[in-house]
This record gives sequence, C-alpha cells and structure tokens, in this order.
Amino acid sequence: MKIALIAHDRKKDDLIQFTTAYEQILSQHTLYATGTTGQRIIDGTDLKVIRFQSGPLGGDQQIGAMIAQNEMDMVIFFRDPLTAQPHEPDVTALIRLCDVYSIPLATNMGTAEVLLKGLEHGFIDWRLLGERRG
Ligand code: PGA
Repeated sequence: MKIALIAHDRKKDDLIQFTTAYEQILSQHTLYATGTTGQRIIDGTDLKVIRFQSGPLGGDQQIGAMIAQNEMDMVIFFRDPLTAQPHEPDVTALIRLCDVYSIPLATNMGTAEVLLKGLEHGFIDWRLLGERRG
C-alpha cells in the first residue's frame, strides 16, 4: 500500500511517536510525506520515506495529485485544529479528495491507530483490487 504521512508543526512529535510505535507495520508499505514531516520520520525512525515539498510549499497538493490518480491508498494527517495554517485551502482540498475517492483518512492519532490495525488485518485490501498496480 502507499501511505501518506503528514503532521502540522505542533503535531509532529505525536506523529513520530506514532510511527515509532507502528514502525513494524509501516515498514511493509511505501511511505510518502510532506517535506518536514518526512525528514522528522527519517531522523526519528528506520523507515524509508519519499518526501514531497513542505506542506505550505505544495506538498499537500502533491499528495492530492496522487490521490486523484488513484496512486495513494491511505492518508494519515495529524492536523493541528488550534492553529491557523497559511495553506488551509490545500489542507481542505486534500481532505476533500480523500472523500471524493474514498481513501481512508485519519486526522488524529485515535483514528490512525484504528486504520493501521485495520491495515494489518487486511481490511483495506480492497484497495488492491481492480485494474491497478500491486
Ligand atoms: P511539513 O508540511 O511536513 O513540510 O511541515 C506539513 C503541513 O504543514 O501540511
């Protein structure tokens, strides 16, 4: 599966904690991240991550483009609901595209844990069905 990982600045420590806890599961998948989030994961874990631009510089849109092309299977996005983001329209667009294409999306750690446990148990294997790549 292709999994996107994004965390706003005040949520990055939480995401590192999360990726550390679920490193074994995540290591079996192809991981993508916005720029700073990806660097933090690379520095803080042994996971390999493909990095896009930083979120405010277009990284959210790059991930959105992958969703539109049916090339992303899950998005874990630790949003900061208490801080205004300069790229709020991009954040909204990314979440919208997840809904347009029925891509599993977690915007907080509670849901992210459920998604990864579901991933581990094959509940998202339907993403591998159809005309698409393995
Ligand atoms: P960042 O971008 O990982 O480059 O900080 C995330 C975001 O703010 O959307």
